[in-house]
Parts: sequence; structure tokens; C-alpha cells
Amino acid sequence: MKFSKDCILDHVAIAVNSLDKSQKIWEDMGLTFSSEREIVESQGVQTAFASMDENAHLELLCPYGETGPIHKFLEKKGEGIHHLCFKVPDIEAKCKELKDNGYILLNESPVEGANNCLVNFIHPKSTGGVLVEISQKRK
Ligand code: ZN
Repeated sequence: MKFSKDCILDHVAIAVNSLDKSQKIWEDMGLTFSSEREIVESQGVQTAFASMDENAHLELLCPYGETGPIHKFLEKKGEGIHHLCFKVPDIEAKCKELKDNGYILLNESPVEGANNCLVNFIHPKSTGGVLVEISQKRK
């Protein structure tokens, strides 16, 4: 089997009501979380990260404040898998390629995400029901 270098699973994100409660569940599975939690104010979210292997992380997303996409998601659907994130080498090029192929992106151009990354999202309507994040480490 060949692994793609142009699309690497970066994280699986789970929307949760409490970072502490959910972190405990995944620690019981054997994961170790970074002691640093991050607040992304522009997204109204607080995050906790644990490494699953050399590339992939588990990201817990908890609402920060009373608005924002995670707050809405939890109200509508409750806790659960929120999105998959793939790391790409050139997010601008990938966004353009996806748009040209008819995919609906949530942002006109990439925005600031957690962990010093530039990110964009592909609408679940375009992907068979899965919210997909694409991400590039900021240089
Ligand atoms: Zn994410």
C-alpha cells in the first residue's frame, strides 16, 4: 500500500460539552493530552490535543462563549465526531483545485486555525455528510 504525502490525516475532531470529562475518557483509552489548551476566539472554541501516532491527533472541541459553530453543533446534534482534518502541502492550491472541481468551501480564503495552522473547511454537502478541514502549517 502506498501512502499519500499530499493528504495526511492530521486530526479527528470531536465536539464535546466538557474538555475535562472527555479528556478523561480518551485518557482511559490510553491517549496523553498536551497540557496546553488553546482558545481560538475567532471560532468560539477551546481545544485539547492528544497524539494518536506520528501524524494524527485527536482534537476535542468545546464551545468558548455562547456563539460559534461548536456551540451550534452541540445544540443541534449533541456530542460526537465533528470533522476530519487532512494536512496538505499548499492550502491555497488545494482550495483552488477543490473549488474548480465544484466543492463548496466554507471560507473564501484560508483562515487561522488552532496550532498555528491555516485552515479551510469543505461543506458536508460536498463530501457525503462529513465536514472536512484542510490545513497547512503556517511557515
Ligand atoms: Zn480541526
